[in-house]
Amino acid sequence: MGILEVKNVGKRFGGLQALGDVNLSIAEGSVHAIIGPNGAGKSTLLNCLVGKLIPDTGSVMFDGQSVLGRKPYEINQMGISRVFQTPEIFADLSVMENMMIPCFAKRDGAFELNGIASVDSQKDVHATAEQMLVDMNMADKRHMHAGSLSRGDKRRLEIGMCLSQEPRLLLLDEPTAGMARADTNNTIDLLKQISDERDITIAIIEHDMHVVFSLAQRITVLAQGTPLVEDTPDNIKGHPKVREAYLGE
Ligand code: ADP
Ligand code: MG
Repeated sequence: MGILEVKNVGKRFGGLQALGDVNLSIAEGSVHAIIGPNGAGKSTLLNCLVGKLIPDTGSVMFDGQSVLGRKPYEINQMGISRVFQTPEIFADLSVMENMMIPCFAKRDGAFELNGIASVDSQKDVHATAEQMLVDMNMADKRHMHAGSLSRGDKRRLEIGMCLSQEPRLLLLDEPTAGMARADTNNTIDLLKQISDERDITIAIIEHDMHVVFSLAQRITVLAQGTPLVEDTPDNIKGHPKVREAYLGE
C-alpha cells in the first residue's frame, strides 16, 4: 500500500474527459514523477488530490484515509502540501515574514480571529522560520522583499514555506517551469536534499526530462487523462510507447 492510493479517478469538464480512469500508487519515502504532454491531465489530477477539484468517479486515499469531500485546508492538515505552478508568495513582505506565515498557521491551527498571538508564540515562530531559512540556505536573504528574489529563490522560499507545515507528502506542479538552467539545477539539488534528509514523500509533475531523470525513482506517464505506463526511469527511457506518445518519436 502506498502512502497515496488513487483508484479509478475520472474527471470531466463539460464535454472533455480530462481524466479517464487513473490508478496510481505512490510509495512512502519515494520521489514519484508524473509526466505527459500538455493537456494530459497532470494538473487536473493534482487538483483532485488536494481538494481543489472533486473527481466525478473513483477514490483518493492518503495514509488509509479518504481525502474526497474534504476541504483543501483539511487535506493540508492531513499532511499533504502543494507547490503551485506559479510561485505563491507575498511579494511585498520580506523573506522572513513569508516564512513565518506557515509557522504561525502550523502552531496555532489557524490565525486567531481577534488579536495577536502571544509573545512566546511569536518567538517560537521566529526561531522555526529562521531554522527553515537556514535549511533552505536563504538566511542571508531574510530581509529582502520576496518579490525581488530570483525565480529560483522564490521557488526555494515557497518550498521552505511548504516544509514548515511538516507535510508527509509534498506535491510539486512543474517547479522548474520558466527557470534558467542554473536555477533548475539548484532546485534539483534542493529536492534531492529534502528527499534524503526528511521523512517525506515527493510527487512531482515535471516537463523537463533532466529534472525527472535526476530525481524520480518511479515515473508515471499520463496521456489523454489515462496512465500509459508506470516504471523506473531506466525502463521509461527506452519504452517505445513513451517515446511515441511523449517524446514525439
Ligand atoms: P496538464 O497539466 O497535463 O497540461 P491539465 O490538467 O491542465 O493538463 O488539463 C487537462 C485538460 O483539461 C486540458 O484539455 C485542459 O484544457 C482541460 N481543463 C483543465 N482545467 C479545466 C477547467 N477548469 N475547465 C475546463 N477544462 C479544463
Ligand atoms: Mg499543468
